[in-house]
Amino acid sequence: MDTPDTDGMSVYADLVCDPNAGDLLDNLGIIGNKTYPDGVENCVNCGYKKLANLEVLGAHSKPLFYICRRCSHLHLRFTRPYTMKCILKAESLYSNPLSWDMPQREDYD
Ligand SMILES: [Zn+2]
Repeated sequence: MDTPDTDGMSVYADLVCDPNAGDLLDNLGIIGNKTYPDGVENCVNCGYKKLANLEVLGAHSKPLFYICRRCSHLHLRFTRPYTMKCILKAESLYSNPLSWDMPQREDYD
């Protein structure tokens, strides 16, 4: 059985966190509430087996997401409320206007 690829950690220090902009996790392309505390074997969107850990600097000592290396679909490691709490905590550490380099969502649906 293949295991998630963990050699390519991405660190996203730059994150848009506007509490007034709607559900941040929805905006990032998170679909549903399923969490994967022990990693993801297959992308739920495309089935690809290689996923990278996605860490948000200042948010948590562990990656908050797993991102598919093919379609960039994000998977939650923790619950939505907890993930949001961590991200908002991290946001307070950074003062620059922040932006994620996220893929477009044209592949969904
Ligand atoms: Zn995928």
